[in-house]
Amino acid sequence: MLSKIAIHCVNSEYPPSDSYEHLLEWVKERLDENFYSILKFTKVYSPLIPYHRVASHRKYVEVLKKKWPRNFILLGDSMCTFNPQFGQGMTHACRQAKILNRIFQDNHYQLEEVSYIYNRRASTISEECWLISTANDWKTPTLKVIQTDENGQSRTDQRDDQSIVTENEQMKPPLIVRILQWYIYWFLQCANQSGQLSVDIMCVINQLNSPFILLKPTTLLKVCCKALRKN
Ligand SMILES: Cc1cc2nc3c(=O)[nH]c(=O)nc-3n(C[C@H](O)[C@H](O)[C@H](O)COP(=O)(O)OP(=O)(O)OC[C@H]3O[C@@H](n4cnc5c(N)ncnc54)[C@H](O)[C@@H]3O)c2cc1C
Repeated sequence: MLSKIAIHCVNSEYPPSDSYEHLLEWVKERLDENFYSILKFTKVYSPLIPYHRVASHRKYVEVLKKKWPRNFILLGDSMCTFNPQFGQGMTHACRQAKILNRIFQDNHYQLEEVSYIYNRRASTISEECWLISTANDWKTPTLKVIQTDENGQSRTDQRDDQSIVTENEQMKPPLIVRILQWYIYWFLQCANQSGQLSVDIMCVINQLNSPFILLKPTTLLKVCCKALRKN
């Protein structure tokens, strides 16, 4: 079986990438022994490729509404870049391209309206992927957040005490993110024992299904029961 193996890290702690032997030692010391066994019996066919620029970056194009420049659009990573750990970016770009295609096929909009209509629709796709991706980013103890407003004024905040508990309001996860983190945690506990729920979450991460399938009444009930029983 040919496969691609990725090791995701937080807090700028990276595994060695100079040799596979060093990587194996690092995995043996730090990760569950199952990971070590898998890697030990893996035959490597390509060089190890480190990537240390993990960041999520979004332009809230929809906020500008009709002030957005006409005949100009952003698509894919230029509108929204995600932490690559969930592999969302290519599908996100293709879904936005599909939306743009549909707008032109509909053929009842003035050319100057296209960017405004596209921004509204395309940003809902970004929002869906963004919430899933950043719900995890918000758990990073050394998280850094840079916000730029409509006037180009930037503000940077960083958790510097290695703790996600902070007095800085800017560094507290928004309510929707906290709910998502809670729900996804308990959902995954249920998915551990359910093939269907495991498939459901993979379909959402891979954007084959809407995130709303994770909120089916029966699923919602299972997740809440699991959280209440805490086992
Ligand atoms: C390490 C890593 C792993 C990833 N893994 C996955 C994955 O498993 N699955 C997944 O779906 N996504 C993954 N992604 C995300 C995915 O690669 C991107 O979201 C996707 O490539 C975005 O496509 P794009 O066309 O918007 O941008 P890009 O693919 O970046 O294309 C933009 C192109 O424009 C060119 N360009 C830039 N500036 C100029 C200029 N001034 N003039 C001319 N050309 C220019 C660039 O060279 C580039 O070729 C990963 C990303 C990273 C970093």
